[in-house]
Amino acid sequence: MSTNNIPFNKPYMTGRELWYIAQAHTNGHLAGDGMFTKKCHAWLEARTGAHKALLTHSCTASLDMAAMLAEIQPGDEVIMPSYTFVSTANAFVLRGGVPVFVDIRPDTLNIDETLIEAAITPRTKAIVPVHYAGVACEMDAIMNIAQRHKLLVIEDAAQAVMSTYNGKPLGTIGHLGAYSFHETKNIISGEGGALLVNDDRFAERAEIIREKGTNRSQFFRGQIDKYTWVDIGSSYLPGEVIAAFLWAQMEEAQSITQKRLDIWHRYHAAMALLEDAGKLRRPIIPEGCQHNAHMYYILLDSLKKRTEVIAQLKAQGVNAVFHYVPLHSSPAGKKYGRSSGELRHTGNLSDRLLRLPLWVGMDEAQDKVIEQLQQAVG
Ligand SMILES: *Cc1c(COP(=O)(O)O)cnc(C)c1O
Repeated sequence: MSTNNIPFNKPYMTGRELWYIAQAHTNGHLAGDGMFTKKCHAWLEARTGAHKALLTHSCTASLDMAAMLAEIQPGDEVIMPSYTFVSTANAFVLRGGVPVFVDIRPDTLNIDETLIEAAITPRTKAIVPVHYAGVACEMDAIMNIAQRHKLLVIEDAAQAVMSTYNGKPLGTIGHLGAYSFHETKNIISGEGGALLVNDDRFAERAEIIREKGTNRSQFFRGQIDKYTWVDIGSSYLPGEVIAAFLWAQMEEAQSITQKRLDIWHRYHAAMALLEDAGKLRRPIIPEGCQHNAHMYYILLDSLKKRTEVIAQLKAQGVNAVFHYVPLHSSPAGKKYGRSSGELRHTGNLSDRLLRLPLWVGMDEAQDKVIEQLQQAVG
């Protein structure tokens, strides 16, 4: 095994994380919703225009909160792609909901909006678009369907911090949006996330659910003179140490995104010849979608080819990885969900997709990935 392995992901630190954590330590406020959390909330609200932003422990926690806010009852159906992370479905299953899986578009690997209406039944409560690789779903069409059928839209924007759709930040188009700051994402705090509340009718209840079902947030703002248990909820607010780390990242969000985009475009240019030669397919970014370079993937001819390429790259110290096992084919997906129609593209594309290492500072490592990939697919 080569000693200079190129990892698939390497968390980027701005250098100010420990300084802000030291400040949190000095401030002596270590629980949630202190100075750094407030800075992060303000940044998110200013940057995205969301009515309210709330830090959480993870995108998973944000989705759990969204499922509570949507008042999902046992048997309620929630339409989503099968090609996604487990948390997209789990959040609703925890409330007794039934994920209804719809196929994806072959260009973006996002939910195929033209198949959503056929999946709607009298039990449908919500649509959960997932912006794969930080590239937007067809949100105009999705919002239009939701409006006509009186459904909620909850954006799983875990990968989409700093991405936009026709100029609008992802996570702010649906009624609710969920971000992730997991260390594999672009802007990070180890584990971390945020819930964006875009429809203000959910704002008060979101605060309550996040604070163990109490009206403590209102108490801290002096709106009430004691706080009490008023609803269901749990503890979804991260402590200040996490928020302090995240603040250092938010301050540099623009430059982190630009650096990732530079790497992304370099891959894209290098893959053009291989695409022309019919060796692979590159990502397709529809007009109106400004993405955040969360991921660079290629599509190979077959599962067999992908397995070979992964092994060959691995032997050269390059860690390229596949992605989701479609949820409809997983044990829990079969138990708790159902499919709407044939998920033809989901199975085919998930078998052929390969993600390349992409992290800020990879520089020469990227030369090596490109060179090794040219050999492996050539
Ligand atoms: C990463 C991710 C999640 C989960 O995010 P956490 O912050 O780790 O909970 C959910 N959905 C998608 C699409 C993701 O990529």
